[in-house]
Amino acid sequence: MLPSGSDSQQRSLENPDKQTMRVDSTKRNDKMIEVPRKKLNMRLYTQSEQKFQDIVNSKLVTISIIALVGAYAILIFIIVALEELLDETQFNNVSSILSWIELGILIVFIIEIFVGLYAWGIKKYYKDKWLILDTLIILLSLFFVIFELADQKTSNVIKVIQAVFRFLRIFLLIRKAQTFRRLATISTISTPAEKIVRFLAELKEVLEDENMKLDIDYCIDKIGNNQLYQMGKLDEDNAEAMAWLNQSQQGRTEVKRILTNDQQQQQQKKVIANFQKLNIPKRLLDILYKQHDDLYIDPFECDKLSGGEGLVNLMLFFFENYNLFDVFLIKPKVVRGYFEEVMKGYLDNPYHNKVHAQDVAQTCNFLLSKCKFIEIGQLDEQDIACVLIAGAIHDYGHPGLTNAFLINSRNELALTYNDQSVLEMYHPSQCFKIAWGNQKVNIFENLQFHKYRRIRESIILMVLSTDMAHHASELAITNSRVAAPDFEPNGKDKQRLMDLIVHSSDVSNPTKSFEIYKQWTEKVLSEFWLQGDKERDLGLPISYLCNRYTTNTAEAQVGFIDYVVKPTFACVLGFLPAYEPFFQNLDKNKAKWQELIEFYKQQLASIQPK
Ligand SMILES: [Zn+2]
Repeated sequence: MLPSGSDSQQRSLENPDKQTMRVDSTKRNDKMIEVPRKKLNMRLYTQSEQKFQDIVNSKLVTISIIALVGAYAILIFIIVALEELLDETQFNNVSSILSWIELGILIVFIIEIFVGLYAWGIKKYYKDKWLILDTLIILLSLFFVIFELADQKTSNVIKVIQAVFRFLRIFLLIRKAQTFRRLATISTISTPAEKIVRFLAELKEVLEDENMKLDIDYCIDKIGNNQLYQMGKLDEDNAEAMAWLNQSQQGRTEVKRILTNDQQQQQQKKVIANFQKLNIPKRLLDILYKQHDDLYIDPFECDKLSGGEGLVNLMLFFFENYNLFDVFLIKPKVVRGYFEEVMKGYLDNPYHNKVHAQDVAQTCNFLLSKCKFIEIGQLDEQDIACVLIAGAIHDYGHPGLTNAFLINSRNELALTYNDQSVLEMYHPSQCFKIAWGNQKVNIFENLQFHKYRRIRESIILMVLSTDMAHHASELAITNSRVAAPDFEPNGKDKQRLMDLIVHSSDVSNPTKSFEIYKQWTEKVLSEFWLQGDKERDLGLPISYLCNRYTTNTAEAQVGFIDYVVKPTFACVLGFLPAYEPFFQNLDKNKAKWQELIEFYKQQLASIQPK
């Protein structure tokens, strides 16, 4: 039989050696609420006691006891029936066999009681007062059976007492049957929430502290009414932040720390205060609360609102949002320092500059968060950090010239990296040097070595994946993986998909609003044309799209969408179904460029080479 509250004790007090209990933790914030154990006023069990509790509570033992109770009921029925049907001599002949069987069953019940007493202790075991009566009935039944076996000739008084006890044994059977019903309830409970509510109710029974009982009532109420993730009233001063908090918590299924209303409001204020401590300009912070995972955020506006430090502020926001300060064990000032250095390393190119880096990091976050790659790839905080950092550093020190130009012009970078993914090798190499060259900005310094190795490898792979030279071959492999029966977005294919997240973000301009897209197009072509001018001056062949006198902007974009961007995002759509509503932007934007082809033709006709 199960003393009430045994399940919850067993689960809560797993480690009797611990001086404090882990009451709850959230996935995002792994800090524990430490509750001194004496406050709970609960007994901690030794490992062997817990083992016996497990045995008594096990399905096998419970079902065996129930089966034995059934057998005992049949036995009593047979004894009563035979006593009525047979004469005294016939009955005496069979009764000793039946008494031996009864003795065996009663001994098993006695053993069960002793194991229970050992496992829970007398006080807890007999907290259910009915168990005292059960024990008494079993002991007296045992006494009468032994008495019967020792002396067949019983007096009439003893016979009456025996009859009374047989009645009481039926009562005992009903009690046992209740245990059976309880077992059936456990196995048919349909949701974890119902189980948690039941465990909490049992926990409440064994607690003596009235305040803690009230807290448990609060928990049961919130779980029962499905209000776990509902915020308290909005703080009007922080309406943007509170709306973001509410929105960012929608649909999250992990167990949250269960808090009272006051605690909840304190928690919200703390979260907002943490963001405010980062010194992100207020207007930018308000935009990030609303749009940090939005495809249509305006990157130029974000950069302007932060005085040209959009990249730094965006990365600080992400570090706080994903709890990465705790993952990297660093202070915000180290992160700020690091990304300030990264930002300074971006040259003032028309396109490959710090705003492009900020835009790619933010688009990565759109795919991670809004398109649910975090859930689909089961990304942990380290994975998230890798993707966002890779996005931020992926074009560090970009000279505004392509790999082909660097190789053809025998540039020092091409010599250093042996003409292989020259810039994609250079960007992460420089960014790791920034960290290890200055302790004050080294975001990797406090990571354990194996974690650092994993993060470094992942970031480098993602930046290398942005080399357009490998675009077609890598995309073909990723497409075949996505279609494969053993595709594992959260396992062996995760890194490949993370690579694609960064690469697709890098070519994502055509998926955005046409207004933003057109600005990026003008910037990238003006950078290409500057390279074309250089090639012309050096007598080198002018690269594709780099001739300002022949490149039709609109035609170039139609081709870019058809041959690069659409196949890339079709692959993304293959494993991120939430991307679907945004995929159609490509056709809409392509149609707009098609309408402009004639306009750009006329524009080209009006300009002549010098
Ligand atoms: Zn880029």
